[in-house]
Amino acid sequence: MKKPLVTDLQKYCIHDGTGIRTTVFFKGCPLACTWCHNPETQTYTKQLLVNTEKCTGCGACIKACPTNSVVLRNGISETNRSSCHTCGFCLDYCDSNIRALTGTFYTVDELIQEIEKDKVFYDQSDGGVTLSGGEVLAQDMDYMEELLMKLHNKGYRVNIDTSGYAPFAVIERILPYVDTFLYDIKMMNPDLHKKYTGVDNELILKNLKQLSLKKACVWIRIPVIVGVNAAAHHMIQIADFLKAEQISFKQINLLPYHNTGRNKYNRLQLNYEGDCFNTPAQEELETFLAVFNKFNFTNVKIGG
Ligand code: SF4
Ligand code: SF4
Repeated sequence: MKKPLVTDLQKYCIHDGTGIRTTVFFKGCPLACTWCHNPETQTYTKQLLVNTEKCTGCGACIKACPTNSVVLRNGISETNRSSCHTCGFCLDYCDSNIRALTGTFYTVDELIQEIEKDKVFYDQSDGGVTLSGGEVLAQDMDYMEELLMKLHNKGYRVNIDTSGYAPFAVIERILPYVDTFLYDIKMMNPDLHKKYTGVDNELILKNLKQLSLKKACVWIRIPVIVGVNAAAHHMIQIADFLKAEQISFKQINLLPYHNTGRNKYNRLQLNYEGDCFNTPAQEELETFLAVFNKFNFTNVKIGG
């Protein structure tokens, strides 16, 4: 198993649990959601990001690259991703500063040191740490268990933002150290789930039932995407499942889709398939909220 790489350490987050939090984004995920707004967290290895919109075509990166991976096309740099081995040599030669690498390894103690810098904010706001991605449960679990145990023993409240797609034995390893699971349910139809995320949802739903039986604290998070699942019947199916299986959870969050990750696809030279998706209108979200209310689920919120 590779060492987990971090793509971002976001401070002062207020949408991934209670209070002010630091959110750590790990790199690598077994799903490939078509709407993903963090495409740099889908693969497990370092990647080169190039903001080609600002490329002046000076060609300095071409001379710097030891693998001849860069060419100019129509006056703009283009990188051959299969021969680029992310050495980073070209970064320093780009005066426009538009080339960057994503994916940094921190030892457990280094990561905790970074997290501890904002302890005062967590203490004052009932906040803490959220581990996100990518998929936390698809990383080196010896690393994750050590990280979570140390944070827990130091008194930090730790949330895990997860797709739930992992063997339950993996979840059980870290269960004692997690305060809240931010658990995604995207849709109930397994074929549609597979179409949009690359995997079906059987394991995800099974794990949620197990977490419920173990009385874990769970927030259900539903990304709401026009063109995918922003329709009453999708919400009814989810509510039906939660009711029928007597899933215990603390709250439901309806998370409106946004396309803020779009530029990242350009920087990674990836196709963005999300142009056919849209953000739901507030009235639509309120209709969905009402669907859950009808099932007597009252702690339902729009947003994180
Ligand atoms: S990261 Fe290294 S291999 Fe990749 S384009 Fe830059 S110099 Fe070339
Ligand atoms: S060095 Fe930077 S600005 Fe110059 S061609 Fe390369 S990416 Fe473009």
